[in-house]
Amino acid sequence: MLKEATEVDSARSLGPAWQPALSALGPDFCVRVDPRPLEAPHWIDRNHALARELGLQEGWLESQEALMSLSGCAVPPGSQPLASVYSGHQFGVWAGQLGDGRALILGEVSTTQGPVEVQIKGAGRTPFSRMGDGRAVLRSSIREYLCSEAMQGLGIPTTRALALTGSPSRVLREEVETAAVVTRTAASFLRFGHFEHFGGPGQEAQLRQLADHVIDRFYPHCRDAASPYAALLGAVVERTARLMAQWQSVGFCHGVMNTDNMSVVGLTLDYGPFQFLDAFDPNHICNHSDSQGRYAYKRQPAVAQWNLYCLGQALLPLIGAQDDALAALEGYRSTFEAALTAAFRGKLGLDDALREEDVPLIDTLLQALAADRVDYTVFWRRLCDFRLQREAVRDLFIDRAAFDAWARRYEVRCADLDPQLQRQAMRSVNPRYVLRNYLAEQAIARAKQGDFEPVKQLRAVLQAPYDDHPAHQAWAGLPPDWASSIEISCSS
Ligand code: AMP
Ligand code: MG
Repeated sequence: MLKEATEVDSARSLGPAWQPALSALGPDFCVRVDPRPLEAPHWIDRNHALARELGLQEGWLESQEALMSLSGCAVPPGSQPLASVYSGHQFGVWAGQLGDGRALILGEVSTTQGPVEVQIKGAGRTPFSRMGDGRAVLRSSIREYLCSEAMQGLGIPTTRALALTGSPSRVLREEVETAAVVTRTAASFLRFGHFEHFGGPGQEAQLRQLADHVIDRFYPHCRDAASPYAALLGAVVERTARLMAQWQSVGFCHGVMNTDNMSVVGLTLDYGPFQFLDAFDPNHICNHSDSQGRYAYKRQPAVAQWNLYCLGQALLPLIGAQDDALAALEGYRSTFEAALTAAFRGKLGLDDALREEDVPLIDTLLQALAADRVDYTVFWRRLCDFRLQREAVRDLFIDRAAFDAWARRYEVRCADLDPQLQRQAMRSVNPRYVLRNYLAEQAIARAKQGDFEPVKQLRAVLQAPYDDHPAHQAWAGLPPDWASSIEISCSS
């Protein structure tokens, strides 16, 4: 029988001063929920770099209080854990009410960058758990923990991961697994789905309250616009378009781009069956449950736009004129395309003015990569040395004639650029390391045996993915053959 979570002694706490998050919005938005303790919690990894960024006291992450608080076995002093309500479209279909079914917001901590929300994920049932058990299994928690920091290392907006705890408590999925809790942080965990929840008739007051909160906190410039709520939509459109360009350029597939997994502040949110592409295949579907390929790699930008229309629909009672909403949504395509072209030009080391031939050069390359299923990350990293070691790039292609034809165009395009400066710039945008599925699987297999060293080492390498890390050369190489048979589904 599990015990109730206990209060920790506040007088001796080294922990942060927890401020209430979202609760100021009132009971329509969130409910007070205590975590449900797990058996014998233990640390798997702690992210001291993030702890420092958050200004947490040196030593708190070493404390028993932190272990108990971040595993959901105790409520830290001053915290009022909350679960928030949202709704959403799942796989294109209105799913109605969802909400934080297994995530609890412990509160906000104030940092030099502004307030940051802290959530624990997997700490038990909430009023929004529906059929779920409120738990998260070790395997999916390791994936979320590592990928959060991998994305941060890549410079892609994301929720962060502060700590990962495990427990021998059993959790039933397709088979019996063990539980884990990820502590994640973000300026905001608000989703498109939070707005969709209040987008229906008779809920305009709550909708306005939510929109005002988001404007005040994250988009204050929208206040000065003729239509602040249309400006809010436009601001989310812009951040989302830029985020999609970053995902596409690094080969990241989210896997479950439901509207409840889309961040209002443009973060990568809710890591489930995600994948970084191994071989480049625009049609790649990383989520084994996504039988229709709705969230295939190449469809992500269009899905984000569809999701933004849902957000626009939800905000319509505040925006008023449909044309204003449509005008705000209109910016998506041009922002995305400009950001994507800029990202690919950066990957090619073209930091001079855009030329007419650049977009066709990118398109031809992507076609060649797709035709030969070239490893995406290895290709770009090798391309950094193209002007010194052309053969290493060429070796990745089956159709050498097609590659040679492209390479001649690329060479001409690069003629005026300094090779050393270009190489340096390319190495700062083409990562040597991404969290390939097989790397996560290997770390998970070892963690299941009680060895957390690979998780820690992988986290450290992925936090600096543009560096060389000679001790971990193998992680930068081509994936093993078995990598393509890994199946990751929604169940986690
Ligand atoms: P996801 O697919 O992880 O984005 O989750 C979709 C919805 O299901 C959200 O409302 C989650 O909180 C909820 N959910 C997912 N897994 C669980 C679980 N094991 N227990 C309770 N709720 C869950
Ligand atoms: Mg979710």
